Amino acid sequence: MADKKEKTFRFVIVGGGIAGVTCVEQLSSQMPSSAVALITAGPLIKAVTNYKQVSKTLEEFDVEERASSVLEEKFPNLTVIHSAVNSLNTHSHSLETTDGRVFGYEKLCICSGARPKLLTQDNPHVLGIRDTDSAQEFQKRLSKAKRIIVIGNGGIALELVFEVEGCEVIWAVKDKAIGNTFFDAGAAQFLIPSLDADRPERAAPCKRTRYTTEEPAPGASQTFTADRISRRHGSGTTESGSALGPDWHEGIALRGAEQASRRVSVEYQCEVEKIFTSEELLSSSQRAENGENWIHCSSFYSNSLPFSPPQAFSLLSVGSWPVYVQLTNGKTFGCEFVVSATGVVPNTEPFLHGNNFVLADDGGLQVDDHMMTSEPDVYAAGDVCTACWEHSPLWQQMRLWTQARQMGWYTGRCMAAQVLSEPIELDFCFELFSHITRFFNYKVVLLGKFNGQGLGPDQELLVRCTKGQEYVKVVLSRGRMVGAVLIGDTDLEETFENLILNQMDLTPYGEELLNPNIDIEDYFD
Ligand code: FAD
Repeated sequence: MADKKEKTFRFVIVGGGIAGVTCVEQLSSQMPSSAVALITAGPLIKAVTNYKQVSKTLEEFDVEERASSVLEEKFPNLTVIHSAVNSLNTHSHSLETTDGRVFGYEKLCICSGARPKLLTQDNPHVLGIRDTDSAQEFQKRLSKAKRIIVIGNGGIALELVFEVEGCEVIWAVKDKAIGNTFFDAGAAQFLIPSLDADRPERAAPCKRTRYTTEEPAPGASQTFTADRISRRHGSGTTESGSALGPDWHEGIALRGAEQASRRVSVEYQCEVEKIFTSEELLSSSQRAENGENWIHCSSFYSNSLPFSPPQAFSLLSVGSWPVYVQLTNGKTFGCEFVVSATGVVPNTEPFLHGNNFVLADDGGLQVDDHMMTSEPDVYAAGDVCTACWEHSPLWQQMRLWTQARQMGWYTGRCMAAQVLSEPIELDFCFELFSHITRFFNYKVVLLGKFNGQGLGPDQELLVRCTKGQEYVKVVLSRGRMVGAVLIGDTDLEETFENLILNQMDLTPYGEELLNPNIDIEDYFD
């Protein structure tokens, strides 16, 4: 591969998502006389727009898909190559693309993102949502669907069940509460009424100092109905290989085949046992009739009738579904298709063969505090990497848009610093985990160890909740604030961020900290 190099660039970045593009922008502007190449599989790139630093660590921005020519016009030292990398040779410092071209690099940054962790790879009835293509495929199938099953409890599942209308949604989560990646059971209970048609009326603030929430029993289910919610419609965009991000559903109508309401049923503490087609169900019924016991399920929920194999024939004639999902709680549901929203797998494959990358347990390329992988001159940023430095006690990696941007920007600076032989310290953004998003139409701010991650019993929680309006949770450890969840327009983010960063002893304030009658901002000024 080494001899065939078409051109050698000082810096090569692979991936036109947020991490790669931010890294390119940083390097191209900081090192204007160095040749920079962006190699990306998709025809479009992702650009950060309307960037706003909300507080010391909190940031908000929009993401747009753009033609790569916009970047090339801005940075004359940049060449964009539209092709996928299919192999990397770290010894010869070269990459080969799928169209057979070979490029050399002095410093390389891999920003190839991640792909959905699908329940099964080869089942046409199982969809993952990652990029514009898959979102459009989802929309197309949804428009003809009366019932879908969503598996997973992260951000994508949360958004999906809230946004889909005109289609029944069965939502299977492995945890005791919805949104476990972002929330605890208390926040989940606060959000659950949003799945209902009648939004809860605004009530007077009530303060709960002791943290207790009633969780559904294992295997329990909850059902909510809702009228259609108003949505913005617009034109879909063209294809891209980059991960979607916040508001990915804006501009695409997530409407099923049914007329009016949305109906969401949550199945708690269960996973998928088996996925099978109506033909398989039919043949299993025949086998059961012949004395074989193939499907073990206590109930069959296609038509709310108890299932026993001989009845399957009549059930199928009443209404058969293209696919059936048997859950570990013993229930089986029929549906048009299954959405697998159970996390992501880093896109590392093309880079591994013949090289010695150290991978983390989650499959990401391990990077140190300078975003370097275990291979010389190779960096990684965004969803493809796993941060393996000793983290600040208030930070954790989550594969989110904000972290993709922060890592891309910091990696660009690290690559430049190495070339210039300049020292560089870990950026302040890795000091405190912070994230702003929206779930169920509420503003959501997450700070630090917002779910008490890694704290064990060494934590105390203060909670204030006003039904339908706000949910405020503070995580304290040895009297110091170490995390917070703010749902609604609480206006507390900046004050809490400061309290977390300065690690002030809050013991004297006790429960007053969340007293709604005290203006906490003035209190700590
Ligand atoms: P990506 O955006 O995936 O970009 C990877 C790039 O690499 C792409 O351009 C791809 O074409 C290219 N590529 C891949 N392989 C190769 C190859 N072999 N050769 C060349 N190029 C290659 N985050 C949030 O913060 N908030 C949210 O609300 C949110 N919602 C989400 C909703 C959905 C449906 C999804 C899928 C993700 C969501 N995320 C959200 C996560 C967020 O989108 C990702 O964390 C972020 O986009 C990762 O950026 P990245 O640059 O690392 O990777």
